[in-house]
Amino acid sequence: MRWTSEAEALLKRVPFFVRGRVRRAVEEWAKERGYSEITAELLLRAKSELKEKASSPDEGYSVERCMGCKNALCDLTALCDRVEDFLREQDLTGFLRERVGGRLKYHNQFRVAMSACPNACSRVQIADFGVIATAKLFFDRDSCDGCAKCEEVCVDGAIVLKDGVPELIEDRCLRCGACAGACPGGAIRVEQVGYRVLVGGKLGRHPRLAAEVEGFASEEMVLELLRRVVEFYKRHCEGGERLGTIIQRLGLSGAEHRVFQSNQ
Ligand code: SF4
Ligand code: SF4
Ligand code: SF4
Repeated sequence: MRWTSEAEALLKRVPFFVRGRVRRAVEEWAKERGYSEITAELLLRAKSELKEKASSPDEGYSVERCMGCKNALCDLTALCDRVEDFLREQDLTGFLRERVGGRLKYHNQFRVAMSACPNACSRVQIADFGVIATAKLFFDRDSCDGCAKCEEVCVDGAIVLKDGVPELIEDRCLRCGACAGACPGGAIRVEQVGYRVLVGGKLGRHPRLAAEVEGFASEEMVLELLRRVVEFYKRHCEGGERLGTIIQRLGLSGAEHRVFQSNQ
């Protein structure tokens, strides 16, 4: 895609750290409309249309997951698809449009975020509904030769070798499974992968970190908890407020576990 010198000069006014992203978005916008050259006039038109679009999402919900990498405990694709299907069926978009009384803003969206390990790259702690993959470990003492690789790899200091035998310090362990990956003889293994479920995170004027309501859920349990959370959210949401705001308004902070486990 060609850019005229005037358009390039205008683009230079965009802060350098987002310039590449803006260039790509404008080129995509222009390509979709059959243009092969970006002029200053076209750039301004694209800016106004993209700004308009960026301030109003198409959906009343979003489902994000981490990119996945060597640390991933599982593949989140299937769960992610099921969550998305459920939110679509729930017509959260129609629900929120009615509550908001018009166009949706991004801060109205019901956000789900999922991460395939405790590093939580998809910012699970500020989502309305967050899912973090977690490992259940199995230790086979007979296969351990005391090589200490597990102790070396654990960045949380949750494994300490005592008399050549690894001891797990439970309250430090984040169940990431890195020790199992490093253990040459399979003495520490990931026995099962489950999900931590967190609810009610948000940023804004009164930010709030999501609170954990379940420490080791199966895929079915995650979906059941999501069903309960969405039901609660629909029952109490006023004017498109976030789940965390509802929890704060109702004075439920700290009691989320009880609320969503018992489906009040
Ligand atoms: S959350 Fe874990 S698996 Fe996902 S991208 Fe981050 S480090 Fe990798
Ligand atoms: S699971 Fe992760 S945090 Fe826990 S002991 Fe192993 S490496 Fe450390
Ligand atoms: S890495 Fe495995 S074999 Fe080595 S000390 Fe740890 S548990 Fe034992």
